[in-house]
Amino acid sequence: MDGTLDDASDTEHFVNCGVCFCEFDEENRKPKFLLCAHTVCFNCLQKICLKDMISCPFCRKNFVDVTVTSLPNNLYALHIIKLKKEKETTASSLDCRTRLATALETRYDVQEQLDVVMKTIFEAGAQVKKLQVENYLHIAELMSAMKMNSPPATATVRPTVKPTVKPTYIFPSPTPTANNKFVLGESIFILRLFQSGALKCEIRIRPAPTFHPEFLQHLGKFCYKSPKDFITTAHAGVFALFSMSHLLFHPVVPNYTSNPWPGITPNAAPGEVGIILNKSSLPGSTLSSSAITSWSLILSVSPVNHQHKNVISPLPVEMFGHVMNTSDSPNEVVMELSKSKKSEVINYTISLESQ
Ligand SMILES: [Zn+2]
Ligand SMILES: [Zn+2]
Repeated sequence: MDGTLDDASDTEHFVNCGVCFCEFDEENRKPKFLLCAHTVCFNCLQKICLKDMISCPFCRKNFVDVTVTSLPNNLYALHIIKLKKEKETTASSLDCRTRLATALETRYDVQEQLDVVMKTIFEAGAQVKKLQVENYLHIAELMSAMKMNSPPATATVRPTVKPTVKPTYIFPSPTPTANNKFVLGESIFILRLFQSGALKCEIRIRPAPTFHPEFLQHLGKFCYKSPKDFITTAHAGVFALFSMSHLLFHPVVPNYTSNPWPGITPNAAPGEVGIILNKSSLPGSTLSSSAITSWSLILSVSPVNHQHKNVISPLPVEMFGHVMNTSDSPNEVVMELSKSKKSEVINYTISLESQ
């Protein structure tokens, strides 16, 4: 015994009763010193003790007129047990701390990796968004170019209708809503176009009954009787395309499936408003597959010929609604916008309100 308690077997015979082999304790197994200096636990001595006589189980010496209770405790054995217990507690708490530290370190590593993945996803999303905007811009430019190079009208191509021709369809006036809130089928949207901050035109749009009602309800509620300024990048061509985004409006269409609309086709009546919903399709994205990440409104400014159908058709254009204005002024402003150069287009801003 070198006092360091390093070897458990060194201490075994100090802390265990040599009769029952149980460890001494402060209760029923108190280590009791016999007069021969052997130590036996209280429990065993009580069984050994006969009529105030104790016979040492190790050296067979007999002691008379003694009671087990009166025998002194082996304080040394108790002290060794105490030290042993302390050592075990320290070791187990050290072991526990080591395991916790290792687990924590692993979690930090995982967090770091997740941060990298998240950053990559955000960067990829931003990149995709940038590519989308650039692509729309190219489409708008291509359509402008095609419009300028289109052959003169023949019998097979529908002649260009002057933009001043009034639409032949008539929409009923909006009925005031009884509930003082956005009501599908009754409420309308008002799109206001500003150029360098000055209101240029107001376009009243009756949403199409075929368009996703969840989206319309959500959007209608968002801007009900409170015009919201959307950060928009207007792309001009033979149609005007407004990329719509607002920090507080997160469009979601549950179970999204597109309701394809032929888009701006030769037969599309002037005054139809198209919409493109961009679904989140990033691999590993936390957004659900039905999440709409961005959307754009498309206003046709005049009927276009067949060639343009192929350009616009790859886009999932859906019918958003119909322009209700009876005056031609909105069309003229959009027409003006559609002729604008890229550098001028940035002067246009947009707000949307529902009533
Ligand atoms: Zn014993
Ligand atoms: Zn003895």
